[in-house]
Amino acid sequence: MARTYLSASNDASQSQYALGRIHSIESMGTVDGPGIRFVVFLQGCPMRCAYCHNPDTWEIDAGTHVSVEKLIEEFESNRAFYRTGGITVTGGEPLLQPEFLGDLFEAMHNDPQGKVHTCIDTSGSAYNPAHPERFEKVLDNTDLVLLDIKHVDPDKHKWLCGMSQDNVFAFADELCRRKIPVVIRHVIVPGITDSLEEVEALGRLCARWTNLVGLEFLPYHTMGTVKYEAMDLPYRLEGVPEMNHDKAAHLRLACFNALKEEHVRRSAAQQSNK
Ligand code: SF4
Repeated sequence: MARTYLSASNDASQSQYALGRIHSIESMGTVDGPGIRFVVFLQGCPMRCAYCHNPDTWEIDAGTHVSVEKLIEEFESNRAFYRTGGITVTGGEPLLQPEFLGDLFEAMHNDPQGKVHTCIDTSGSAYNPAHPERFEKVLDNTDLVLLDIKHVDPDKHKWLCGMSQDNVFAFADELCRRKIPVVIRHVIVPGITDSLEEVEALGRLCARWTNLVGLEFLPYHTMGTVKYEAMDLPYRLEGVPEMNHDKAAHLRLACFNALKEEHVRRSAAQQSNK
């Protein structure tokens, strides 16, 4: 999957939309949503996940100013490939730029050549429940959300990624209220997120979101460490081994079973309250 780094848009000052701060694009993405996708990596993230393999997207004031028009042009140049896919915006943290994202997704939905399927890959950390109006346009034009839940335990979550879970759960609740399909993603790290207790708690938590359409367990890998070396950043998971894929699959099943049991428990409780 080759990344392309765009130069700043020449038409930026004439754009009728909010400008984006872009890190890079990937024209043939296959792991961030259904089908083959045009993937846009936005610049900036408020989290500092210990296992992040994109530390070069963290800095908020960096990136290249790119217009919605330029991204549409890039998309249209390969449109035939995206018949069963669409566009995914990831990062960094996409919700840090809600005005740009709202403009981009609205334009994609209103594309004269046909509506484009839109997806956000997000940690939810930049959602602000005190100002839901800032996210209205994005969410009105979002078809699917891939939402990372980093850790169920509040203290371990803070240790793992430097922020509380409050915005993440508020965002998940808002997606549920709006009935926007969501896939929960969970990175399984040996010794950190791979206990039975953790994954079963995650399953019980997910039962409250009736818009859930998928549960992905992503085994931890160390491929991002070269970026830390290149950027001279400390890598907090030094010495942690890669996650065994079979164990990750086993834990996903345990999570799914806990989710089903919680659904049954909730249904029974609702029946007895009638
Ligand atoms: S939310 Fe994503 S981009 Fe931000 S630090 Fe975590 S893994 Fe990296």
